[in-house]
Amino acid sequence: MSTTQAPPPRQIVVVGNGMVGARFAEEVARLDPTGERVHVTVVGEEDQAAYNRVLLSGVVAGSYTPDQIRLPVPDTPGVTVRTGVAATALDPERRRLTLDDGTHLSYDELVLATGARAAFPPITGVAAPDGSPGEGVTALRDLADCQRVLSLARPGAPVVVLGGGVLGLEAARGLVGRGMRVSVVESSPWIMRRQIDKPAARILADQYAALGVTVHSWRVASRWVPGTGLELDDGRVLPGDALVVTAGVRGNIELAKDAGIEVEHGVLVDDTLTTSDARVHAIGDCAQHPGGGAGLVQPGWEQASVLAQRLTGTAPQAAYTGSSPLTRLKAEGIELTAFGRVHDEEDTEDLETVTISDPHGGRYAKLVVSAERVVGAVLLGFPEAAATLSQLFDTGAPVPADRLALVQGLPTAAPETESAPDQQTLVCRCNAVTRESIEQAWLDGARTREAIADTTRATTGCGGCVRDVNALLSGLNDTDPAKVG
Ligand SMILES: Cc1cc2nc3c(=O)[nH]c(=O)nc-3n(C[C@H](O)[C@H](O)[C@H](O)COP(=O)(O)OP(=O)(O)OC[C@H]3O[C@@H](n4cnc5c(N)ncnc54)[C@H](O)[C@@H]3O)c2cc1C
Repeated sequence: MSTTQAPPPRQIVVVGNGMVGARFAEEVARLDPTGERVHVTVVGEEDQAAYNRVLLSGVVAGSYTPDQIRLPVPDTPGVTVRTGVAATALDPERRRLTLDDGTHLSYDELVLATGARAAFPPITGVAAPDGSPGEGVTALRDLADCQRVLSLARPGAPVVVLGGGVLGLEAARGLVGRGMRVSVVESSPWIMRRQIDKPAARILADQYAALGVTVHSWRVASRWVPGTGLELDDGRVLPGDALVVTAGVRGNIELAKDAGIEVEHGVLVDDTLTTSDARVHAIGDCAQHPGGGAGLVQPGWEQASVLAQRLTGTAPQAAYTGSSPLTRLKAEGIELTAFGRVHDEEDTEDLETVTISDPHGGRYAKLVVSAERVVGAVLLGFPEAAATLSQLFDTGAPVPADRLALVQGLPTAAPETESAPDQQTLVCRCNAVTRESIEQAWLDGARTREAIADTTRATTGCGGCVRDVNALLSGLNDTDPAKVG
């Protein structure tokens, strides 16, 4: 009698042990717990276990310690993680990866999850010719940067943040909270130019001013002078012991490019997350998909899940078709959510806009509707409306007739035509966790936020849904027969 032997597991090598590479390994471990189908080797340049990069601004603010932001490491026979080692060359023909310790890894499938790095603008003093930061200058991309920011900046000391996007504003909020004197310089006409409109930005800048942060929009920096500060194009010098550069990122695409794989600003991938080489895939911030998604963790995690299903063979037809990004500013005391089409120049078709502007109260709301569906919103100081509108945006459900009540976060009657599929409402966007999954976890015994997080992963991304999960949980716990009885 002859026995057929199972084929050996396919070898998958992942380059990058960041948020998306680590999530891919975790997903594979979940789908193939015994390592029978595939063996994954993750190589990561950073000399430590993977962590939640999104929460680095919280580390700067002092809300988290580095240990509190570690990501789970799969403890299964099918996953090996090697930290402190970088991939230096890729040979797609021989299916071989070269590492900086002189060794090589052969693969059946290669996953690029190399992320992105901070871009330093070409301003005198900001970066050396080799690209390294100038004296007193740091980016905010990894834990080492965080430590540098905190060592450069002492309470009471002046700090300049270069770049008034989401990251810069989060860093500024964290630094002022630690007692520093902070200025933000933004070269666009207004802060968070990509996500919010000008009136919202004006109110947001006022809120920052009230916190002690001076915002200089539409100002170009001309020179960083260590020990003095940042000189602007109008000749003013903003005092600064340190310069934190948050002026955009650049995808780490060199490995792919040098291997002859097609790249633009990212490594080009299709809906199967495959590059121009059939055995090489790319996910996360280094990938460029026609539906967008680079720069945010939710699309990267979705890509990791799709690719894990494909490469383990558990769902070979799984596909990633793009994502609709939502931005939530993580700045203590400021509630800002923005998504979709919110800029007036996008008013090219039949868009209906409802706006509330309350500069004195530091509040602003803008709702953009097209064909009875929410297509965009900016909500500063309206957390209830933010929750409702983002759900309508996600589900594509029709908008209630009373738009004004809706943007104020007041109760509204649902449209008669259809009702929103409430159970399918996304509560944690980063991890695509629905209300139904949280209720199911509760029914299965998860009674605390930590237990819900362990079961569903809700709240473990950017943390923006903590309030919603707590509210849901408290409602459920109130109905707990064990408590009532
Ligand atoms: C401070 C901060 C706040 C953020 N806030 C948010 C937020 O609120 N919401 C949101 O959605 N997104 C946010 N982001 C963006 C989010 O962190 C990224 O989208 C996410 O980290 C992308 O994951 P990734 O794995 O693709 O890249 P990364 O997390 O950057 O990981 C890539 C890893 O690959 C490693 N690597 C690179 N090249 C090599 C090589 N050749 N060999 C070996 N290893 C290599 C790098 O060292 C790195 O560890 C934030 C980012 C920062 C920095």
